[in-house]
Amino acid sequence: MIFLVSVGCPMPERLLLCTDLDRTLIPNGPQPESSQARNQFAALAADPRLVLAYVTGRDRQLVHEALASYQLPQPDFVIADVGTTIYSIEPDGNWTADEVWETRIGADWNGRANEDLQQLLAGTPGLRLQEEHKQNRHKLSYYLALEANLGAVARNVMERLRAADVRARVVWSIDEQANIGLFDILPESASKYHAVAMLQQLQGFTDSDTVFSGDSGNDMEVLTSSIPAVLVANSDPQVQQEAIELAASSGHSAQLYIARGGYNGMNGNYSAGILEGIAHYHPQWRDR
Ligand SMILES: [Mg+2]
Repeated sequence: MIFLVSVGCPMPERLLLCTDLDRTLIPNGPQPESSQARNQFAALAADPRLVLAYVTGRDRQLVHEALASYQLPQPDFVIADVGTTIYSIEPDGNWTADEVWETRIGADWNGRANEDLQQLLAGTPGLRLQEEHKQNRHKLSYYLALEANLGAVARNVMERLRAADVRARVVWSIDEQANIGLFDILPESASKYHAVAMLQQLQGFTDSDTVFSGDSGNDMEVLTSSIPAVLVANSDPQVQQEAIELAASSGHSAQLYIARGGYNGMNGNYSAGILEGIAHYHPQWRDR
């Protein structure tokens, strides 16, 4: 791959690319993936000026599985567990969790950890604890049946936690394959957005040299923030509409790009959409 520098548009020193995994980089949705897309993405990731961060709800073990199953490039950072952990990945493959981040978000829980919150929430009707590897110090994860009264359960949980001076937030999502609800309790300030902002700060990036890519609801906060972001073309039309409206209402319409396909003859789905978004914001990174 050759990167051409266009006149009047100097090549940036570095670019921080923060991308969601499932259905964004990983082509595990129903839409087709362009055959050359992941190869082109890997070529971009190999550029030493590109700092690559995966931003995912997956835990460390599931990120490892994704890297192997989908032959994804080794990232420089992984923001895992819905923003509650930030790992640096050394060239030798060693993962180090960022303690500054853990301490910062831990303050929301008033020094308490996963096991302490489990005790506070013991006996909450409807909640069933998820497997051990899906838990971590600042992420407490339960299953909740799809037919359960989500609002009532969430209110009950928040009341119990507030009574213990724990500032938390609940993230609800659906595991469509298992047909079950996922009910995650996180520190209030732990989110994909806050973790990406922290990574920018730690690594000396600003919005002008950062791009985020995502596809769904748990990416929304970043997608509609001041960070230039791309929604891949395979994202749900409802998510696209919501992102357009939220970005407009927060004055960030220029920082939201929805991939439509056509870049390098690809369809804009998954990694093709990420590449299209990078070319949109940083044409000097466009490959030839
Ligand atoms: Mg996703």
